[in-house]
Amino acid sequence: MHFHTSQNSQSCLLASSVAVLQAEKRGSSTGVGVGELIWPSPSDGTPFWKKDFPSSGVSPEVFADVKDSDPKHIIHVTAEMAPIAKVGGLGDVVTGLARACLSRGHTVDIMLPFYECIQKQHIKDLTVITKYNSYHDGNWVPTTAYRGVVSGIPVIFIEPSNLFFKGQYVYGGSYNELEAYLFFSRACLEWMQVTSTQPDIIHVHEWQTGALPLLYWDIYHHLSLKPRIVLTIHNMEHYGECSKEQLSKSGLEGSVYASIDKAVDDRTIGHNPERLSLLKGGIVYSNAVVTVSPTYLKETLCTGWLASTLVRNRDKYFGILNGIDITMWNPATDIFLPVKFNDQKPEGKKFCKYYVQRGLGLASEGTQDGNHVPDITYKAPLVVCITRLVPQKGLHLISHAIKHIEELGGQMVILGKASDVRVQTEFEGLAKLHNQGPCIRILLMFSDELSHMLYAAADMVLVPSIYEPCGLTQMIGMRYGAVPVVRKTGGLADTVFDMDDQSNHNKANGFVFEGIDEGSLNCALDRAFTYFREKPDEWNGIIKKVMEVDNSWNNTAGKYVELYHSI
Ligand code: ADP
Repeated sequence: MHFHTSQNSQSCLLASSVAVLQAEKRGSSTGVGVGELIWPSPSDGTPFWKKDFPSSGVSPEVFADVKDSDPKHIIHVTAEMAPIAKVGGLGDVVTGLARACLSRGHTVDIMLPFYECIQKQHIKDLTVITKYNSYHDGNWVPTTAYRGVVSGIPVIFIEPSNLFFKGQYVYGGSYNELEAYLFFSRACLEWMQVTSTQPDIIHVHEWQTGALPLLYWDIYHHLSLKPRIVLTIHNMEHYGECSKEQLSKSGLEGSVYASIDKAVDDRTIGHNPERLSLLKGGIVYSNAVVTVSPTYLKETLCTGWLASTLVRNRDKYFGILNGIDITMWNPATDIFLPVKFNDQKPEGKKFCKYYVQRGLGLASEGTQDGNHVPDITYKAPLVVCITRLVPQKGLHLISHAIKHIEELGGQMVILGKASDVRVQTEFEGLAKLHNQGPCIRILLMFSDELSHMLYAAADMVLVPSIYEPCGLTQMIGMRYGAVPVVRKTGGLADTVFDMDDQSNHNKANGFVFEGIDEGSLNCALDRAFTYFREKPDEWNGIIKKVMEVDNSWNNTAGKYVELYHSI
C-alpha cells in the first residue's frame, strides 16, 4: 500500500478529514481537526486513551426509519449494560437492542444492579423512585430503585442495602455472586409488583437472570404480573451452577426444581448432591429462548450438555444474529478518535493508525518534529485483537499470532483482560518480552476508549475463537474499516466470508480459517498480508466493502420484535 506524502497531498487528506468532521450533523464531535492534533507518545504523563473526552459519546436521540405498529413495553433485566457496566458483548447487545426497539417506537427500560463501580456522571437525571423490601434468605432486604437515563435509554437501578454489588468491578466482588443475582432477579419482579408495572415482555439475559422465569411463574404471575418472558443466551459456557439450598434463598422451594425436566444440571446427575443450573431453568421456564447467531443455534443443538434440553425445547428456541449499535460505534462521530472518518471519506483512518502507533511507541516511519507534517506512509499492517483473555477466544492462537505477525513484518496490538491468574501471568510474560520492541504491544486491561481507537487504527482485526456465539469485534472492526481474520465458528461464520472463496464472492469480506492449529491461522494471516501488500487496489476495495456492510440492529431488531409479538 502506498500513500502520497507530498505536502500538497497531505493537505488534501487534512482537508477531507476536516470535511468529514464538518459534515457531521448529529452525534457528538470533539471539533478536533488534524491541524490541532498533538501526537501522543508513550512517555506522556497521561496515556492518550485516558485524557479527558467529552462526557457522552452517544446522542440520547434515537433515529429509525422503521416504526412498528402495536408497540410493546419491554423490560430488559440484565447484569451488564454498555457503556456503564460492560465486561463483554452482553453489555453491547442489551444497549444496542434496547436503543433499536426504542427507536422503532416501543417503550423500553433496562433494569440493572446498581454496581458500586458504575460512574454516576454517565447517568442523566438520576433519582430515587422507590424504596421497598425484597426477599433474600429469610429476610426482607431494604432496597432502593433509582431511575436515570443512559445513552438515551431509561434505566432502573436496583440497590440493595446489603453487600451485594459492592466493589471495584462488575464481577468478582467479595460477595456471593450467585446469591446476589438470585436476589436481583427477585428484586426486579418485586419492584414491578409493588409499583404495578406491567410490561408486555420481560427480557432476561444469561444465567444471572435465569431464575427470574422460575420466580415469575412460581410467585409473581399468581400475584399480579402478566408479561411474557424471553431469555437470550449469549454464551452457553456459563450456566449458573446452583445448589437447591441456594435457590431456596430466593424464596423458591429448591427441591421442586431438582428434576431432569426442570432445572437439574445434567452433568451432575447421580452425583451427591446433584446441582441445579439457572440457565437450564431459564430455558425451561421462558416463553421463548434466543441465542445470538444461527450457526451457534445449530452448534448448540448438537453439542454441549444443554443440547438435550434445547432439543426438547426446540419449538421455542431461535437464533437471531446480534447487531452492533451504529450510533455508539460510528467512526464519523466517535468522540474517542483523533480524526473521524467514514466509508465515503476514509482518509482519517490513516491518521488514527499513525496516532496509535505514535502513542504506543510502535514503529512508524514518519516523524513529527517541529513543523513537519507526519509521514503516514508506513507499510506494516496493524492487526488488533480486542478480547477477554479466556480459552474460548483461542489463547494459543492469539499468542502464536504475535510470533507470526512479527515474522511477517506486521504489527499487533492485543487489548485483553484476563480473569484467570495463570492466563494473566502468561500474557504478562509475553508483554515483557515484546512491549519494548517496535512491533508488538500487549495491553492487559479493559479500556473502552482505547478499544475505539484501536478499531479505527487497525488494518485487520483478529478473532481466532475456538467457539464464538456471535462475536462483536469482527463487526465493529468492519465498521471501522478493519478487515476481519477469523476462525469459522458460530457468529463469525455468519458474518465473515473468505476473500478467496470463489463460490461466495459477492459476500467476501475477510479471511477465514477452520482448524484450531497454528498452521491454519498462519495461512489466513499470510493471505491477508499478501492482499495488503501486493494487491492494494483490492485491499482498498475490501476496506470499502467492510465499512458498507450493515451489521446494525436495524437489520435484526425486527426479528426480536416479531418474536415479542408471537409470544
Ligand atoms: P464476548 O462477549 O465473548 O466478550 P464479543 O465479541 O461478543 O465477545 O464482545 C466483546 C465486546 O467487549 C466488544 O465490544 C469489545 O470491544 C469489548 N472488549 C473486549 N475486551 C475488551 C478490553 N480488554 N477492553 C475494552 N473492550 C473490550
